Amino acid sequence: MFQKEIEESLQLLEKNWQIDPVLKDFVLGKRTDVSDYPIKVKDVIFHIPYLSNEKKFILWKCFWPDCHNCCDRQGRLPLTSDDLVTIGKGLKYQKTSDFIKKETLIATWQEAGPTLTNTVMTSINLKRKLDETEADDGTHISCRFLNKEGGCSMHPDRPGVCYLYPFSTWLENDNGRARVHSTFQFTGDCPGFYLSETLDPMKEVLKEYSITIYDYNMKYTRTTREGFSLANFV
Ligand code: SF4
Ligand code: SF4
Repeated sequence: MFQKEIEESLQLLEKNWQIDPVLKDFVLGKRTDVSDYPIKVKDVIFHIPYLSNEKKFILWKCFWPDCHNCCDRQGRLPLTSDDLVTIGKGLKYQKTSDFIKKETLIATWQEAGPTLTNTVMTSINLKRKLDETEADDGTHISCRFLNKEGGCSMHPDRPGVCYLYPFSTWLENDNGRARVHSTFQFTGDCPGFYLSETLDPMKEVLKEYSITIYDYNMKYTRTTREGFSLANFV
């Protein structure tokens, strides 16, 4: 995500939410005291940012239903092969191929990796608006499934990726074994980040997300194996 987009997102966020200036500087990449605190929770290694000058971690809690920014400013909705079947059925399609033809599009984008590598991803994405085109990929669109109450009209059968936000996740080869990693994505859209001296307030959340994130990785790996998505390292 470009710096300018993050700045614009933060400006919008600040219209409705009070953002800690320390966190704002961090999201804008202005802090020089950031280190990575890896913590293994079940089968996932979470990378939690730590600000050494503040002696504090950056943690997160969700403000839903007071906030639904992640659905209001959606960037893209890549689908797993399980999603294709479940969501297709939920939208009353008898054939998954008809669902794919009418409700999805194929997009290719580059994702910055946790190290110096970038990944070029190609996948089948759910249209966030019915007239969405490839040119809209990565732009902020209010998702058509967001209802008036701020909920998802497809819940609980919403796309797997919707359960991840604000985490991002990736797989790394650890001596021949796939290891699942995860960290926060700081897009400037989420008001839920806060500073804490300990990780305690987030322990239960990390346990819960560990299961979701691991499960998503397995499903996404299967999706790639089945030829419904592609990842190339550049
Ligand atoms: S933007 Fe953040 S606080 Fe708001 S609903 Fe999404 S995860 Fe929760
Ligand atoms: S599909 Fe549902 S959960 Fe996902 S962005 Fe749209 S409204 Fe939000």
